[in-house]
Amino acid sequence: MAERLQKVMANAGVASRRASEKLIQAGRVSVNGKIVTELGVKVGSQDFVLVDRNPIDKEKKVYFLLYKPRGVISAAKDDKGRKVVTDYFTDFEQRVYPVGRLDYDTSGLLLMTNDGELANQLMHPRYKVNKTYVAKVEGTPTNEELQKLRQGVVIDGKKTARAKCKVLSSDFQKKTSVVSLTIHEGRNHQVKKMFKAIGHPVQKLKRETYGFLNLNGLTSGDFRPLTSLEVSELK
Ligand code: URA
Repeated sequence: MAERLQKVMANAGVASRRASEKLIQAGRVSVNGKIVTELGVKVGSQDFVLVDRNPIDKEKKVYFLLYKPRGVISAAKDDKGRKVVTDYFTDFEQRVYPVGRLDYDTSGLLLMTNDGELANQLMHPRYKVNKTYVAKVEGTPTNEELQKLRQGVVIDGKKTARAKCKVLSSDFQKKTSVVSLTIHEGRNHQVKKMFKAIGHPVQKLKRETYGFLNLNGLTSGDFRPLTSLEVSELK
């Protein structure tokens, strides 16, 4: 897909779009060997862009924090044509992928990046990244039931690692409660299976934190780039 030169430059981290326009007008940018000074030029992935004779880095690593809404698939494509998390990032030169997954009906914090090395590192069990989920569950778990979650419950024939959990509120009329659960594992449907194992099926699930990152300032469907400090702290 061809895009405006200043946008491609901005996405590659050269400068902001406005500053990239100034670089173009100043005659400092060439496309396929020819200096370009007009702003209407579009370039695609085959075009070779130089700024001050240096190639721009279209493969620059980018990192985003997405507040995934419910009803979106954590993948790059879906056979059934449903909305996927990569649909939010089509304006960018780089192709980003989700770090791990959230279920279709789960909302919350999802990291998106084209840095495969960091993604693999973060998903490796050895890294033990804490993730906090807030679940609306049927009924209110008793202290003994919460204790089971804390010590580990058997799901799919294997005990889960120690977890932190706490009842945040209860709605006695609707017979539901809101419970926070912090785990560092990332097994398939783990949180839902853990609550099911103690007899309190999940009705609604949201991931609120991933390591030191949280959703502050974002609403469902928003995303923001990570700061360079956040990226270095993740590594
Ligand atoms: N655990 C689940 O059951 N679902 C998610 O989406 C994430 C963790």
